[in-house]
Amino acid sequence: MIKVNYKYQKDYIYKYVSCAIKFYHERFSINGKNVASIELRKNLPLSYFLDFILTKPEEFNYKVKLLVENKSEIIEFYNPILIYGWLYEMICSNEMKINSKSRKSIFNNFFDDVLFQLKQMKNKDERNLILLDYFINLMGCCKGEKESKKKATLKKISVIINRHRPDRDFYTLFPSWILELSEIFDYNNFMNVDIGYDINDKLNISVCPFCNLKNIEPDKKNHGTYRPDLDHFYPKSKYPFFALSLYNLIPSCDECNRANKREEDTYLKNCRHPFLSGLNNKKIYEINNIDDLIIFSNYNDIDGLNIDLSVKINKYKGYENDIFNIEKRVLDKKDKKYHEKAKNIIKMFMRSDKGKCYKIGNEELTEEEYISESCIDLNFDISSLKQVNKKLKVDLVNAIFKRNDVA
Ligand SMILES: [Zn+2]
Repeated sequence: MIKVNYKYQKDYIYKYVSCAIKFYHERFSINGKNVASIELRKNLPLSYFLDFILTKPEEFNYKVKLLVENKSEIIEFYNPILIYGWLYEMICSNEMKINSKSRKSIFNNFFDDVLFQLKQMKNKDERNLILLDYFINLMGCCKGEKESKKKATLKKISVIINRHRPDRDFYTLFPSWILELSEIFDYNNFMNVDIGYDINDKLNISVCPFCNLKNIEPDKKNHGTYRPDLDHFYPKSKYPFFALSLYNLIPSCDECNRANKREEDTYLKNCRHPFLSGLNNKKIYEINNIDDLIIFSNYNDIDGLNIDLSVKINKYKGYENDIFNIEKRVLDKKDKKYHEKAKNIIKMFMRSDKGKCYKIGNEELTEEEYISESCIDLNFDISSLKQVNKKLKVDLVNAIFKRNDVA
């Protein structure tokens, strides 16, 4: 992931906020199509709404914590694992044990233990936890029942927590204004091509900041016909209140946004936000057979050598998970595209007198190959947000020519 300079100008922020305010009022308008309730307006006055819209990158985590503490019913509805993660873990890690028929007493003890801990949670806390009551009630009701019923209850609870298949009673447990939240923060109705185009334009990004593998430049000749995806860094299904937050919208390629990251819980996984930091100066790509490569490159001939490439994003695990599947995309076993690309980068760099001279020789390349593989566009002064594969090129060139550039 490449760090993005997110400093929007004041006039743009003003424009964005004006659109959001207009949208908010429309959602409550008496003649509007999706009329939100008075109850929602009470729980979400305009000032709260704007507070979400303008949440700064460094404030997202803090605001989620605040909601867990003060408006836990919202978190319980949209992302209960943030409150009941411990319980989910507990049930999953005991699944093997409680599935064993010969260990009924273990199972019963476990059931009692869960019930006890849920009740403790209730005593310890004064928060208005809706699901907690529901879980205690569910478990209390089947206290004297057979193990199979208890087992089914535990399963039901863990499914609700993980939100794979919410219980059919689930929706009736919560006040309707909580369900309506996603109508107020209704991204699909709010976002139009102009806003999307503007965001990308203000951030001045032409290459996906998550993968640095794909161009996402909007089609400027036909303004409006194409704009890149805007990834919700904190997914809107789990954090609907950030669905319209300006700093939660990151221009990205469709492969990163739709095919790989999807609903990944970036809060839970403690992923780095691209407006705060990136892996610009960390080595992501490594050449495993670097010693062989240096020997071959001294003779200006690496044709006979296979480049053994690896991707080290998971090295930074805990802070940087490979949620965009870069490793899989680059090191696809069947498709050796990136191994070849790596070799071409090194060859071209060698041919261009180790980067000093940007001639490409007599090599016959198509225009596309020329742009993506040549070192001519490996300009160390141009950001990775403007150059496809710059991170790969920089890491390779640094590895073999001992440069110390950052992406
Ligand atoms: Zn991407």
